Amino acid sequence: MDFNLSSEQAQFRDSVARFAQKELAPGALERAHAAGYPWDVARLMAKQGLLGITVQEADGGQGGSLMDAVLAIEAVAASCPRSADVVQAGNFGPIRVLAEYGSDLHKKKFLSRLLNGEGVISVGMTEPEAGSAVTDLQTRAAPDKGGYRVRGSKIFVTHSAYADLVLTYVRFGPGVGGIGSVLIETKSPGVKRGKPAAFMSGEEWAELHFDDVHVPEEMVLLKEGGFKKQIAGFNVERIGNAARSLALGRYAYEQAREWALQRKQFGRLLCEFQGLQWKFADVKLKLDAAQLLLYRAAANADRGFPSAEEAALAKLACNQAGFDAANEALQVMGGTGYSQGSLVEYCLRRCRGWMIAGGSLEMLKNRVAEGIFGRSFPQRPAE
Ligand SMILES: Cc1cc2nc3c(=O)[nH]c(=O)nc-3n(C[C@H](O)[C@H](O)[C@H](O)COP(=O)(O)OP(=O)(O)OC[C@H]3O[C@@H](n4cnc5c(N)ncnc54)[C@H](O)[C@@H]3O)c2cc1C
Repeated sequence: MDFNLSSEQAQFRDSVARFAQKELAPGALERAHAAGYPWDVARLMAKQGLLGITVQEADGGQGGSLMDAVLAIEAVAASCPRSADVVQAGNFGPIRVLAEYGSDLHKKKFLSRLLNGEGVISVGMTEPEAGSAVTDLQTRAAPDKGGYRVRGSKIFVTHSAYADLVLTYVRFGPGVGGIGSVLIETKSPGVKRGKPAAFMSGEEWAELHFDDVHVPEEMVLLKEGGFKKQIAGFNVERIGNAARSLALGRYAYEQAREWALQRKQFGRLLCEFQGLQWKFADVKLKLDAAQLLLYRAAANADRGFPSAEEAALAKLACNQAGFDAANEALQVMGGTGYSQGSLVEYCLRRCRGWMIAGGSLEMLKNRVAEGIFGRSFPQRPAE
C-alpha cells in the first residue's frame, strides 16, 4: 500500500494549483459573493483541460481518473473556493452520468458545449413531496407522439436558475422500477422557472415546472428500470460534494492557521495558547482522516463509478470534517472570521449545505448501516 500520490498525480495537482493561484486567487472574494455562474472561470478551465477530466478522450474529455478530478477540486479550492463548483459541474455531477449513459446524439448535441464551459447541466431529482424519499417522485413521463409528455416540478436544483439542460428524474410507471430519466432543455416550450430563491450559501435556485413538456424518444437517457444506474452515477456527485467540503474546510483551516501565527492578544501570538493549539490538532485529525476515506473511494473507482458504501463513508467524513474545520477556523479568527471580508464564513455556509445536499448525513448513515448488518431497513411504515 502506498499513501503517496504518483509522480503524474503530483505533477497534475501542482500544475492545477499554479493555474488557480495565478488566474483564480485574485478574484476569489468577489466570486464567492457574486450571483450567477462564474462563466469566465468555466471558459478558463475548459482551456486548461479541467472540464471532462474523467470523460473519455473519444467524447472530448481528458480520459483521466476520478482521483485526478478530486485533486483538481482540492488544488482549485485552495486558491478560490467558489471556483471548485466549476470543477464539480464539469466533472462530477450529471455531466458524468450523461457521458456514461448518453447516446451518440446526446453527446454530440450537449457534451461539447458543456466541456467548452459554454453551458451547464443540472440534475433534477428533488420535488416538494420527494426529498430524502426520492423514489416518491411524481414527475410523470406519459407516452405522447414519438416521445413523452413530462409534467411535474423540481425544487432546490443547483444551477436551476441558469442551466440550459436538466437531467430530470421522471416516472414512466409505478414504483422504483418505473423511474428513469430524460434530458430536458430549459428553453423547451412548457419549461417554466419559478421565483428565484437562494440557499444560505448565496447559491441561487428556481423551482422548475414542467408543464406538459414534449420530450422526444431520443432524449430519454435511461428508461424505466434506470433508477439504480442513475444512483450509481450519482455516487460520483457525492465524491465531488465530499471533496469540496473537505477542500473548503481546509481552506478555512489554512486561513486560521496563518492568522494564529500573526495575531497577538495578551502580548502573545494566538498559536501560543494551548486552548487554540488543541483546536488545530483536532481539526487536522478530522481533515486528514476524512481525506484518506475520500482518496480510498476515488482511487478504488479509478475510471469508473465509486462503490456506494465507500462514497457514503467519504461523504459523511468530509462533510463533518469540512464543517467542523470551517466552524473552528471562524472561532479562531473571531470577528474577522465572522465578517464577509474573509472567506471563512463563506466556507462555513457552503459546508453546511453539503450536509443536506447529495444525500443527507442521516440518509448516508442509513446506507452504511445496511452494509454493516447485511440487510435492508425499509424506512416506510409497514402496509
Ligand atoms: C445546497 C443544496 C444543493 C442541492 N442541489 C440539488 C440538486 O442539484 N438537485 C436536486 O434534485 N436536489 C438538490 N438538493 C436537494 C437535496 O437533495 C434535498 O434537500 C435532500 O435530499 C433532502 O431532502 P429535503 O430537503 O426534502 O429534506 P427531507 O427529506 O424532508 O428531510 C428532512 C430531515 O429529515 C431527515 N430524514 C429524512 N428521512 C430520514 C430517514 N429515513 N432516516 C433518518 N433521517 C431522515 C433528513 O436527513 C433531513 O435531515 C440540494 C439541496 C441543498 C441543500
